[in-house]
Amino acid sequence: MGIAMLSLSHKCPRCGSDNVSRSKRQGMIEKVISVVRLLPYRCNNYSCGSRFFIIFPRK
Ligand SMILES: [Zn+2]
Repeated sequence: MGIAMLSLSHKCPRCGSDNVSRSKRQGMIEKVISVVRLLPYRCNNYSCGSRFFIIFPRK
């Protein structure tokens, strides 16, 4: 783990699955998230389960 992965779409950047769901924000990163529109997601693919952030462009 360690490096946070980023995705531009609702797909897991690791396995490509679109079976992902929102994850809870985690303290330290929360400040960064509030500046850039990043939302933490988690892959529901049983064999993957990676966590990543999806970037939402500001409108
Ligand atoms: Zn995955």
